Amino acid sequence: MAADYVIDSMISAKAIAARIEDLAREIEKRFEGTDKLVVVGLLRGSFVFIADLVRELDLPVEVDFLEASSYGDGMESSREVRILKDLRGEIGGRDVLVVEDIVDTGFTLHHVLHLLTSRQPRRLETIALLDKPSRREVDVKATWTGFEIPDEFVVGYGIDYAQRNRNLPFIGKVRFP
Ligand code: 5GP
Ligand code: MG
Ligand code: MG
Repeated sequence: MAADYVIDSMISAKAIAARIEDLAREIEKRFEGTDKLVVVGLLRGSFVFIADLVRELDLPVEVDFLEASSYGDGMESSREVRILKDLRGEIGGRDVLVVEDIVDTGFTLHHVLHLLTSRQPRRLETIALLDKPSRREVDVKATWTGFEIPDEFVVGYGIDYAQRNRNLPFIGKVRFP
């Protein structure tokens, strides 16, 4: 079936790669001397970002994943966050970096940080590839943000629309002509 929408490029693969190099240097500085950094990817949208990010990090890294639902297959946040898949490992006393694709209303990140904080990590920081500050409903901000973007529905670089377009190498905005 042909798609009834078009995708306009917003952030190129090259721009993403350059930004990740800078972010990695900042993360290395923050976690300098760590015995182990547990990098927690929020499934599924962060899987491409986390893959590129950990390969830029010159730190002892472990990778774990957590899946929280919020959007379903639609384009609006459900505001009700559920944990669909929890971490495999323990994070008590550990250095933890949560990797999110997009902070939108903020409900997802707020819920996840509340949950992980209750497990008493030594340090807990967050990185989001994209941030839509104009959409925020809950007061939460990632420690590091790749790019601030306007209120557009975006896809690519791991991020889907109804499970499609995750394999685009760039970030594009969805438009219905
Ligand atoms: P929040 O709970 O902050 O409203 O939403 C966070 C999640 O909603 C993101 O991690 C992402 O999965 C999804 N989301 C937010 N904005 C967009 C968007 O523009 N496109 C897509 N595909 N998902 C989005
Ligand atoms: Mg997400
Ligand atoms: Mg989704």
